[in-house]
Amino acid sequence: MKLLKLIANLGYGSRKEVLAIFRDGRITDVDGEVLYSDDKVDHSRVLIDGEPLDPAPGLLLMLNKPVGYTCSTSDPGQIVYDLLPERFRSRNPIVATVGRLDRDTTGLLLMTDDGKLLHQIVSPRSKLPKIYEATLARDLRGDEVKIFASGKLMLESEREPLAPAKLEVLGPRQARLTLTEGRYHQARRMFAAVGNHVEKLHRSQVGGLDLGALPEGRWRPLDAADRERLF
Ligand code: URA
Repeated sequence: MKLLKLIANLGYGSRKEVLAIFRDGRITDVDGEVLYSDDKVDHSRVLIDGEPLDPAPGLLLMLNKPVGYTCSTSDPGQIVYDLLPERFRSRNPIVATVGRLDRDTTGLLLMTDDGKLLHQIVSPRSKLPKIYEATLARDLRGDEVKIFASGKLMLESEREPLAPAKLEVLGPRQARLTLTEGRYHQARRMFAAVGNHVEKLHRSQVGGLDLGALPEGRWRPLDAADRERLF
């Protein structure tokens, strides 16, 4: 791909704006050689103002989402894009959220510009386990593990019962829930269906991936080893 298209697609500006950056000689290779808009150079060798380009197309990243941020590009409140470099929302294709976490849910959120990968992760066929730590408003009754595992739990306005889900009781009001589907507000609605209320919800794991030492509000790109752990 020609550099003009590559760099414009990474969100550095319109084609016209990026052409102006080329004209100013601000785009070089790693040896300091000035590059031109119709050059074809490997992404990893290109610098803008001496800085490496943003991650190449095919980006998959994890964000440790704090409370209060929505998975939207346009909400008037705080959005997850506020926690990423400004350019990520103007990339073509955009770096999209892989599924959604509610505004008040914290934890592991994946984002990618790779539509095929996104589909692979969110597809019900993938049955990728997602692990949530829930803090509840009321003590657990004792029958929730069996009900969630039954494969018979029907949520209001759904046509199909939920797939069996694993619930581990960690304390009277603390539980770990493993879901293999991604229905709307699923964890909150499941606890509501057994007469409880989720006060805090944190996603700690997707597939074999966890947040590790990633601080809240921070993101990092995922490499080949991370991707292996995901599936
Ligand atoms: N289930 C929910 O209820 N909310 C989330 O954000 C994720 C799963």
